[in-house]
Amino acid sequence: MSTETPSAGQAAKSPDYPRRGEVEGRDDGPNFSLVQLGPTAGLDRYQVRTRAGTFAGKVFLKELLGLSGTEISCGLLPPRTSFPFYHKHQQNEEVYLFLSGAGNVSVDDRVMEIRQGSVVRLAPDGVRCFRNTSDEPMHYVVIQAKQGSLEQWTGTDGVGVPGEVSWPSA
Ligand code: ZN
Repeated sequence: MSTETPSAGQAAKSPDYPRRGEVEGRDDGPNFSLVQLGPTAGLDRYQVRTRAGTFAGKVFLKELLGLSGTEISCGLLPPRTSFPFYHKHQQNEEVYLFLSGAGNVSVDDRVMEIRQGSVVRLAPDGVRCFRNTSDEPMHYVVIQAKQGSLEQWTGTDGVGVPGEVSWPSA
């Protein structure tokens, strides 16, 4: 597993934390990038800086993984707290997958219940926020992609590759 020290250029390119050298590890090949973010319970060690301020518990993956069609973030909202601001998007659709905790998502004038296993799609214009009203940490993943950009998916894009599956011994 190789590690990289961020250059000043990389650090200046994006306001998002972490920079490449701040994850627990990474590996890159011609057809992949892999990062070790560490235990999900410790996601609050990552911070993100926005126009609304700096807050902990959010890590964006576009820069870390070199994503070219999506932005993905992993988040951790502590018990009994709210995401700190409303926002919407200019061209990207977002999907929020809630993996633990329970609370509410608000979209424009609607407030809905969310819990582990809730998945919410948001059109760019939807003014959104969410909160964790439970005593558990709320882990969530956000996937962001340009609305209307998907041309192929699942069975129309995936192609089986012949050959028996084999692994090095574990
Ligand atoms: Zn967003």
